[in-house]
Amino acid sequence: MGTLKKVLIASLCVAFLAVKWSAPGFDAESLRGARVLVTGASTGIGEQMAYHYARFGAQIVITARREKVLQQVVEKCQSLGAQKAFYIAADMASESDPANVVDFALEKLGGLDYLVLNHIGPSPFSMWEGDVEHTKWLMQVNFFSYVQMAWKALDSLEQSKGALVIVSSLLGKMASPFVAPYTSTKFALNGFFGALHHELAMKKSNVSISICTLGLIDTEAAMDKVRGITNVPAYPATDAALNIIITGATRQTDLFYPWFTQAVTLSKDWFPSLTSYIIQKSYNYSP
Ligand code: NAP
Repeated sequence: MGTLKKVLIASLCVAFLAVKWSAPGFDAESLRGARVLVTGASTGIGEQMAYHYARFGAQIVITARREKVLQQVVEKCQSLGAQKAFYIAADMASESDPANVVDFALEKLGGLDYLVLNHIGPSPFSMWEGDVEHTKWLMQVNFFSYVQMAWKALDSLEQSKGALVIVSSLLGKMASPFVAPYTSTKFALNGFFGALHHELAMKKSNVSISICTLGLIDTEAAMDKVRGITNVPAYPATDAALNIIITGATRQTDLFYPWFTQAVTLSKDWFPSLTSYIIQKSYNYSP
């Protein structure tokens, strides 16, 4: 390995350790009674976040489309120790549902301390074959609804010195094959909420924004898509969920989970051709 590469890798390690050691401490008690809205919480990472918040004694509103599943998640949250737990069925493809969900949470909880935007609409894992309508629909579900909900909740978060938590993806920083519509929605989220983060800081707002960059997580939906197609390791949804919650509670700007997603993001800029080669070779595909 060349000296330059060694220096770059050593710098990466030092930067990573510096970020870890300087991270603020997490006080679980700070979440007792916290008023939280989690989207996409009927399954996957959102469901796991609902259970963690419940264990911390938070007051929770969860949302997704399937009412029966939401009802079961709420019952489990109550048994795990949530101070309050409510659900509202909503479709984020609708123009009005995103705002209605925030109104419901504000009414039930009397305000919000955390808005955790996590939902995604189903999208095929395949070469893009020109389905423009699906791409537009996914933009509404995965991106515009986030913008609508954030705007609707901002006043309440300002009053409570609250936090806006955006669940994004490594695919929002680095394009990858088979997920063109999905990756576009995640790039849009990073751009929009990255800009909003600056604006709120410049206005000396009370609201923090955390953008969570996740690698492959072992949710049913994700594993069903990639099984047999890639050997990239998947990390546990419950651990990802806890890391997202801690990032929001400690008002950190970024989460990279698992940790090496940050190194992968940097490698795309530092070694673009090598990174592209590795990405394309990491999938079993023959035309
Ligand atoms: P998931 O298991 O597919 O869950 C998606 C959630 O969104 C479900 O609760 C689903 O419930 C809800 N949803 C789907 N369509 C909706 C719609 N039209 N309106 C409202 N809610 C809708 O997803 P996940 O794997 O847990 O991912 C959670 C987050 O982590 C996402 O933001 C994803 O991009 C990010 N992430 C995941 C991975 C991974 O490998 N899993 C990697 C990187 C980033 P209903 O079907 O009941 O509506």
